[in-house]
Formats: sequence, structure tokens, C-alpha cells
Amino acid sequence: MFSRLARPQQAAALKAISRNFSVSSQNQHKVAVMGASGGIGQPLSLLMKQAPQVSQLSLYDIVHTPGVAADLGHIESPAKVTGYVGPDQLKASLEGCEVVVIPAGVPRKPGMTRDDLFNTNASIVRDLCRAAAEVCPKAFIAIISNPVNSTVPIASEVYKQAGVYDPSRIFGVTTLDIVRANAFIGELKGVDPREVNCPVIGGHAGITIIPVISQCTPAVQFPADQLKALTERIQDAGTEVVKAKAGAGSATLSMAYAGARFAVSLLRAMDGEQGVVECSYVRSDVTESPYFSTPCLLGKNGLEKNLGMGTLSEFESDLVKKALPELLASIKKGEDFAAKK
Ligand code: NAD
Repeated sequence: MFSRLARPQQAAALKAISRNFSVSSQNQHKVAVMGASGGIGQPLSLLMKQAPQVSQLSLYDIVHTPGVAADLGHIESPAKVTGYVGPDQLKASLEGCEVVVIPAGVPRKPGMTRDDLFNTNASIVRDLCRAAAEVCPKAFIAIISNPVNSTVPIASEVYKQAGVYDPSRIFGVTTLDIVRANAFIGELKGVDPREVNCPVIGGHAGITIIPVISQCTPAVQFPADQLKALTERIQDAGTEVVKAKAGAGSATLSMAYAGARFAVSLLRAMDGEQGVVECSYVRSDVTESPYFSTPCLLGKNGLEKNLGMGTLSEFESDLVKKALPELLASIKKGEDFAAKK
């Protein structure tokens, strides 16, 4: 693709790809992608292969990883890529990993909620986390597999059972909600979306997704009806993609972008860069929900400081109230599942 572009266009294209992936130090890290052959896993692995912080990339899936690894291995970036396939190679895939990103599991089809995926994905996340807790207990875990509102509590319970639980190292990846909010607000206001930063708090499903447009930078104003419509579009954006793909799955490319942005933020913070903030669904005492997404200051040991919700508008406070019962139910469902042997 690049060879057909003029030099300035090539440079612009490469700059666009590496947006958010700037190097903060020369530290080298080993990252695992679990579910690396999937719709998210492949483009996410491609982006991690290009991330300058990554020196070793471990790709695990129950199918096709040797091929994906061979393919990515021909890219002219330094990260060494290794493919691992099937449960017999699961533990080897996690050896020495510092960040483990988990997009393994089934995606939604039209008409399905994220919770409909629970029966399949709960055990996949549990088994992958059991292995990670044993092999690389200090690694940061970034969970993409839905329903995130339940899979993060499952991961936490697995780590507790293994006696290695550190709540500052387990993250639910909600970055796509922020990416979508930034894109939609930029489009509506005619602002470059790269300049927009809109926090999204709560959880990662329907009404639990709460865009905090009152705290957006640059500051933006919308009439009440437009604010409601924009909020609902952000909450339903995943379903918009599921419908458009008409049975071929859910968001993969935008999710890979968002997952890579989040993983690279973890690596930048690990390298000592100051002021790295991402919203993430984490263990929390900000509300009565034991897991809740808010802006989080990241550091060398993961979640350094939960920055909380800040001051919400009346409209946003109302959304939080409405989200809490669903969040509590999803968390309980995850914890009950993990308690079963
Ligand atoms: P996909 O079906 O294309 O890929 C999933 C991959 O997981 C497949 O390659 C499959 O072989 C693999 N897999 C299945 N069981 C496994 C196991 N036990 N161990 C390792 N790998 C296993 O699905 P996708 O579109 O890539 O979506 C993956 C997950 O991400 C889904 O649960 C989806 O709902 C979720 N998702 C989350 C967000 C978010 O914002 N957090 C956004 C979009 C999708």
C-alpha cells in the first residue's frame, strides 16, 4: 500500500498508524495476545508488532496462531513473534509476559446482548486467567472479552483463588467507548477527533456506558435533545457495528485500535512516563459498584490512582444511578460463576 503513495503521503500514513504509540523510553517488553487469531486478535497483534515498546510478542489461540505468527514475523519491526496453539501450549505462551491482552471468545450476532456471550466467554476468560495467574502473576491483564462487566470480576476471583490478586493489575478495556465518543463529538463539532478527549465511565454494555460529555476537552455544548441522542449513540455504537456486519461479528478493527492504545498506555506507564491516564473498568470504591470504570492514572505497578468521576451534570448523575443495578447484577453473575469449581 505504501509503495503506491508519494513520500509525504507515506510519512503521513505511517504517522497516522503510530498515533498514540510514541516511545517514552527504550525499555523492551514481552506482551501476549490471547485469542490472537480472531477478528480483534489479528489486527491487535499487527498493531502490537509495530509498537516500539514491544520486543517479544506471544500469540496464543486454539487455532491458526502458527500462521498468524509467521505472517506478522515478516514485518520489518524488531518485535520477535511466536505463535502458540492449543491448551498444551497455553502456559508456554505466557512465560515472562508483562502485559496480557485477552480478546479471546465469541462475539455478538445481531439481536444479541453482550450478556448473551456469558456462557461461552466466562469459562474462556477463567481458564486463560488461571494460567496467567500461575505463569506470570505480576503481568497487567487487559480484558477485552465480553461481557466485560462480568469477565473482569471473574478474572479477579481467579487471581484471589490463586493467592496472587492485585487489583491494580487487572483492567477491563473500555477504551473503544472513549474512542467512539471522541470520533462522534469531533464529527459533530467539526473538530479534529485527535484533539477531543471525552471520558466514558461506568461499565461496558448498553446503559452502563456513561459518556461524561460535560468533562470533554475541548469543552462542547449540545442542546438537551442532541445530548441525549449523542449519549445513546455512544451507548449503542457496538450494536451499530453488529447490525452493519449483519452476522459477521462485532467491532474488530476499531477495537484492535482501542486495545492497542490501552496496552501501549500500560507499557508507557510501566516505562515511567508520567501522566498516562486511561478510563478502565477496575476494582473501585468510587460508587457502590465494586467494579466501575473511571479515568485511571497508570504507573509502573498498574493502576496508580483512581481519578474518580469528577463533577457530573444532573443528566450524567442520573445515568450513573440507572446503570448501578445492571452493573451489580453483572458483577454478581461473574463472581458466582467463578465461585463454582
Ligand atoms: P472472533 O470470534 O473473531 O475471535 C475470537 C478468537 O478467540 C478466535 O480466534 C477463537 O479461536 C479464539 N478463542 C476461542 N476460545 C479460545 C480459548 N479458549 N483460548 C484462546 N483463544 C480462544 O471474535 P472477535 O470479534 O475477535 O471478538 C472477541 C471478543 O471481544 C468477543 O467476546 C467480543 O464480544 C469482544 N469485544 C469486546 C469489545 C470491547 O470494547 N471490550 C469490543 C468488541 C468485541
